[in-house]
Amino acid sequence: MGIPKTGVSKKGLAMHYSVGALIRKGARYLLIDRVKPPYGYAGIAGHVDEGETPEQALVRETKEESGLEVRKFNLLYDEELDWNYCSKGITAHQWYFYECKTEGKVRRDSKEAKQIGWFAKKELENLALEPVWTYWFQKQGLIKKRTRG
Ligand SMILES: [Zn+2]
Repeated sequence: MGIPKTGVSKKGLAMHYSVGALIRKGARYLLIDRVKPPYGYAGIAGHVDEGETPEQALVRETKEESGLEVRKFNLLYDEELDWNYCSKGITAHQWYFYECKTEGKVRRDSKEAKQIGWFAKKELENLALEPVWTYWFQKQGLIKKRTRG
């Protein structure tokens, strides 16, 4: 069953639904340098469209932003974040965060990414990450704690 485009957060704020994809190849993680705000290096992510399921959004966003096909996925976190703004001016997002196995060849979507590539764990530490990805990578234990900017 699909979900609505906008919901209401626990604090009563308008809320979007988002998916995130942690995509790893060997010891490297797929990141894009975002064209649109919030800026920074980020994994594949996007809003769940109206009537879509989070799983459908995951497969669609991964294909659109990276060219890769999702073959297997596993939900890691299902979590409401009320500090995570998007370009549509909404700060509350209900996230469905997955780890994925993918197939195919990476291609850059110029509307979404200045750059796309695979980054080693030690490189993540020094990248200017989008705040929500700082949060996910910390949660995964991939980077040290940072103060949120
Ligand atoms: Zn949003």
